[in-house]
Amino acid sequence: MATERREESGDIMPATGPIDTARIRAAVREIIIGVGEDPDREGLLETPRRVADMYAEVFSGLREDPADVLRVGFEEGHQEMVIVKDIPFYSMCEHHFLPFHGVAHVGYIPNGRVVGLSKLARAVEILARRPQLQERLSSQLADVIMETMAPQGVAIVISANHLCMTMRGIRKPGSLTVTSAMRGVFQRSSATRAEFMSLISEK
Ligand SMILES: [Zn+2]
Repeated sequence: MATERREESGDIMPATGPIDTARIRAAVREIIIGVGEDPDREGLLETPRRVADMYAEVFSGLREDPADVLRVGFEEGHQEMVIVKDIPFYSMCEHHFLPFHGVAHVGYIPNGRVVGLSKLARAVEILARRPQLQERLSSQLADVIMETMAPQGVAIVISANHLCMTMRGIRKPGSLTVTSAMRGVFQRSSATRAEFMSLISEK
């Protein structure tokens, strides 16, 4: 059985080759037996296939490179802060394989080069559709924007609800986890960072 350890920082495009749905189906059947249920009863019979199809979708970001969508930016000469607020996302906590979901706020100060707003949302989606950590989602997003668009700086704030915290364990419904990643001028200048934070908190 192939196991390969990866850096915690995560490859930007970790998987190659198609997803092995037959293997997922067999494993889900084992889980059903393991929890003490009957995998052959009517309601559960198709569950391994459904879960395999669902994983193919929610982990599709493992086979996509967010840099590809951001590279189609354009030169515009714009030098002022651009903010896209409240980009919704759904991801999967890699520690429990339960969803975490919320919103990402993306800010950057272009060095002339800008990208369509939908492309930023698409980059969030690609990075979210993987076994993820919220901290890593924030830093990967900041890094890929820095690398592909070479702006003066990037600011990411992600606010999310983790089902592994709200439906089990410490059971804190409504508790939000907030992570951030600052690069370039947002890292260097507390005034720039404060401007971003105040703009994303405006309702
Ligand atoms: Zn978790």
